[in-house]
Amino acid sequence: MSVSSLKELLVEEIKDLYNAEGQLIKALPKMAKAAVNPDLKAGFLKHLEETRGHVVRLEQVFKLLGEPAKGKLCPAMKGLIEEGSEGIEENEPSALRDALLIGSAQRVEHYEIAAYGTVRAFAEKLGEDKVVKLLQQTLDEEGATDKKLTELSDIVNEEALSASESE
Ligand code: FE
Ligand code: FE
Repeated sequence: MSVSSLKELLVEEIKDLYNAEGQLIKALPKMAKAAVNPDLKAGFLKHLEETRGHVVRLEQVFKLLGEPAKGKLCPAMKGLIEEGSEGIEENEPSALRDALLIGSAQRVEHYEIAAYGTVRAFAEKLGEDKVVKLLQQTLDEEGATDKKLTELSDIVNEEALSASESE
């Protein structure tokens, strides 16, 4: 990526995120379908709805920046999703596979948290206050999702451990 200003870098990173969120809208229903734990399943479906909102916010950001809403392939998100779907395909449904799913979902959330933190900082520096506000709202939801996944992992990992011990 070759850029010549902070504004241009912000726009490029927003395009990356727009594509990444779009990939997640396709991946989250598969993750929800794969999850055995009902709270994990519901959590993925809830985050799917939030993710649709993230796409809408990014469209508002494009508008505020005077740019067309257009994504650019995010290979990082593609890789994270690929690793997750391999884990789904190569294992039978179980608490252990749920533990694996949580691990890949948290990698995704951490990627998003890092990316939204970066673009928020660029927007702050550029004095784009409305953009900052929108990005912060999404950042808060990504953070809450990560926290929820950590809570669920405690229960799911325990179930995975007892299942392995009883084998
Ligand atoms: Fe998101
Ligand atoms: Fe997310």
